Amino acid sequence: MEDATVCYACGARSEATDQRCSCGEPLWYDLDPQVDDWPDGDEQSMWRFAEFLPVSDPSDLAAAAGGTPLVRTSRLDDYGGCRLSVKHEGANPTGSFKDRGSAVAVTAARERGVEWVGTVSHGNMAMSMAAHAAGCGLECLTLVPDDISDARVRAIGQFGPTLRRVDGDYGRLYYDTVERSSPETVSFTNSDSPLRTAGQKTTALEICEAFAPDVPDAIALPVSSGGHASATWKGLRELRDAGLIDAMPRLFWVQAAVCDPIAQAYREGASTVSRVESAETVAYSIGNNDPPSGTRALTAARETDGAVVSVTEDEILDATAALSTKAGLCVEPSSAVPLAGVRKLAREGDVAPTDDVVCVATGTGFKELDYHETSADVATIELDDLDRVLSELP
Ligand SMILES: [Zn+2]
Repeated sequence: MEDATVCYACGARSEATDQRCSCGEPLWYDLDPQVDDWPDGDEQSMWRFAEFLPVSDPSDLAAAAGGTPLVRTSRLDDYGGCRLSVKHEGANPTGSFKDRGSAVAVTAARERGVEWVGTVSHGNMAMSMAAHAAGCGLECLTLVPDDISDARVRAIGQFGPTLRRVDGDYGRLYYDTVERSSPETVSFTNSDSPLRTAGQKTTALEICEAFAPDVPDAIALPVSSGGHASATWKGLRELRDAGLIDAMPRLFWVQAAVCDPIAQAYREGASTVSRVESAETVAYSIGNNDPPSGTRALTAARETDGAVVSVTEDEILDATAALSTKAGLCVEPSSAVPLAGVRKLAREGDVAPTDDVVCVATGTGFKELDYHETSADVATIELDDLDRVLSELP
C-alpha cells in the first residue's frame, strides 16, 4: 500500500495517512487500478474489487463486508416513477454500508502496525468500527455525543470499545480528531476519511457490475457528511478511466429538508457548501448541518448531470413504509430518503418512467423500529374459531 492521497479540487498530493488537503478540501486515494475487465473468480464480498482498494489482505469480519444484494423492486416502480432497484446495504455484517469503510480502515491499521483506531459517531459508523476492531483485535476509541441514548450505548458497547461521551460542539470534534489522528496514537477514520471513502466506493462498483455491460441511468443516495456520495463518484470515475463503463450514471443526492446544506447550496447555485441552521429529522443518520465533504458531493452531482434535492419528514416516512409494504425491505428512515427524492424528481419530470434508477438503502431498519408503523390487519382470535377466520379472509 502507501499510495498517495490527492485532492479532487486543487490536485495537490499528500501522504497516505493525511485526510484533508491544505486547501481545506477532503483527500481521497489516488489509485490507478490496472484492470481491463470486470473481476472474475468467486469472491462475493467487496474484496472482489481489491484491485481498486489501497489494501488487499482483509481478515475475519473485514473479509465479509460488502457484496450486498441488488434487489429489483418492480412493485415500487409506480411509486418512484421509474424502473427501481435497491442496493440493500442492510445486508452488511453490522447492518449498514459503514462496514465497507471500516473493513478497509482496520485492514490498513493492521498493515501499518496501528494499535488504536477511532471514530466520531453516535450510530451506524460507531457500531461498525467497534465491531470491525473487535473482529481483528484492535483497540477502538468511540467518541459519541453526551446525549446519546442508553440503547445506542449498548448497541455500540457490546463490541467492547472504549466509549467516551463528549460534552461540547460535536461538529468541531470531527476536525479536532482529524488533526490529532496518528498511527502512533489513535488512527481516526471518520465519515469521509480517505480509507473510508476507498471502501465505500465499492457500493458503486458492485452496482455497475450488476448492470454491465450497461450502466443504470442514475444512482440515488442519502447524503450526510458527503463521504459516501464522494466515494460513489470516485468509484464511477475509476470504472470509466479503466474503460469498464462508457457512461456515468447521473448522481442524485437526497437530504431531509430540515437539514439540507448541500441541497441549499445546489438550489442557490453556490460553489461551496456552508453550515446551515437545522432541526432534528426522522432520518437521524443523515442529520449533518456542516458536512465535511459537502462541496465535493455538490461537485459530483453537478458534473454527472445529477441533482441534489430535499424531502419532507412526511415524505421520508411514507417512503419508509413503501419500502416495507411494496418491497419487503426494512430500512432505517434515512435509507428511504433516496426513494422519496427519486419520486419527487420523477414527478418534476427529471426522471423518466423508463429510467433504471438504483436507490442505495444504506442501513437496516431492524436496529430501531421507532418510525415503522404496522401495516398489518391485527386481531386476536379463539383457537376454536380458526376455520371461521380462514373462511372469512377477504
Ligand atoms: Zn486541495
